[in-house]
Amino acid sequence: MTQIKSRGTVNIATERCKGCELCIPVCKPEVLRMSTNRNKLGMRYPELLPGCTGCTACLLMCPDFCFEVYRYQEPILHEVDV
Ligand code: SF4
Ligand code: SF4
Repeated sequence: MTQIKSRGTVNIATERCKGCELCIPVCKPEVLRMSTNRNKLGMRYPELLPGCTGCTACLLMCPDFCFEVYRYQEPILHEVDV
């Protein structure tokens, strides 16, 4: 068991996602990954893992405005299996 700190979180409008994957490499802590599920457009979409910094890089990159970013006042700790 290890602890991962999140300083922020994102809401992802998954039904609007076109599956371009541009958001994945711009996320420096690598906490976005493409889901194996598909939305109603038939596209895979990103999902969030623990460790978001609230940096807004995904929001600025997404051509379809799928992200809302929130920063926590105090970091949240997640217990995760490694
Ligand atoms: S706000 Fe930053 S850290 Fe969080 S998911 Fe988006 S790119 Fe990654
Ligand atoms: S950048 Fe936007 S449209 Fe492209 S995969 Fe990410 S959320 Fe979907």
